[in-house]
Amino acid sequence: MTKKKQIEDGPLKCPECDGDAEPMMINVSGLGIAGWRCSCGYEMLSPSELEKAYNFLQAQKRERVKISKRGNSYMITIPKAIADAIDIENLDMVEVYLKDRKTIMVEV
Ligand SMILES: [Zn+2]
Repeated sequence: MTKKKQIEDGPLKCPECDGDAEPMMINVSGLGIAGWRCSCGYEMLSPSELEKAYNFLQAQKRERVKISKRGNSYMITIPKAIADAIDIENLDMVEVYLKDRKTIMVEV
C-alpha cells in the first residue's frame, strides 16, 4: 500500500534565520511528513499533515488490550489510534508471527 505524499509547493521564510526553507519530507519518529527544512536546520510541518503526525505519535503509546477466544482462535483488538495511523480500512490482510516468547508481531 503506497500513498501519494503531497508536498506543498514553494519555499517558506525560516522564522529562525529568515532564509528559505525548502519543501521536503520530514522524518517524525519514522514517519515521513510533508514540511519544510531550512539550511539552518529549522523544520516546519505542513498544517494539513500535523493531525497525521499527531495520530502516529499517539499510536506509538503502549496500550493494554484484552485477549478473547472465538472457537480455537484467540483475538485481540487493534486500538483506534493504531487503526487510524495505518489507514486500516485499506487493509484486508496482515502477517502475524512470533518474534520471541514475549512479542507477537503484526506486519501490515
Ligand atoms: Zn533557517
